[in-house]
Amino acid sequence: METQVFWEERWKNSHTGWDLGAVSPPLKAYLDQIPLERRDLKVLIPGCGNGYEAIYLLENGFADITMLDIAPTAIAKLRRRLSREAPGWEAHLRLECGDFFAFSGSFDLILEQTFLCALDPAMRPDYARKMRELLAPGGKLAGVLFDRDFEGGPPFGGHSEEYQALFAPYFYIKTLAPCYNSAKPREGAEVFIILEATSPMPG
Ligand code: SAH
Repeated sequence: METQVFWEERWKNSHTGWDLGAVSPPLKAYLDQIPLERRDLKVLIPGCGNGYEAIYLLENGFADITMLDIAPTAIAKLRRRLSREAPGWEAHLRLECGDFFAFSGSFDLILEQTFLCALDPAMRPDYARKMRELLAPGGKLAGVLFDRDFEGGPPFGGHSEEYQALFAPYFYIKTLAPCYNSAKPREGAEVFIILEATSPMPG
């Protein structure tokens, strides 16, 4: 469990430079346009970290939420915050500590933010396949991906053309476009994606 050790160390030492400290504006805007009567959809946030979106989802009537992270410290922190700020959260939200690549389930919506960039780029094809596997027919993977390079990593950078090639075998690419409502430090350096699990899963 090398990956877990790596991330747990970062959490223990508070090396969490990716953390925005609040709900991600593009994810918030995406969630806001989901009709009230559809807020029973099954939502997953993998690599959720501090998971500010969890409380936002609960406050806005989402009723079936799963937050997943490989680092026990991240999950313990989120559990404490939920208990403080969202009493009764257990009725609508599941906290899971584990490896995304070993996770199973069927979700209607998976939200991405600074998770793909946290993974070794060699894992990207496995990421695309796993995301597709975790989505129910017609389900969506939505969120933000960096559209820039970094020296070393994590975070590891990437660009639209690469994402297009990565996801096309598994998804109908509804949106893959420059993000117009990124958090300040990421302005001009992100794309927003909405990928639909419509075609049959390739063998
Ligand atoms: N999405 C959060 C956290 C991003 S950092 C945010 O935007 O603030 C990436 C997170 O992914 C870390 O919390 C790390 O512990 C987690 N992670 C890394 N590899 C993982 C894996 N294989 N499975 C689940 N979580 C993982």
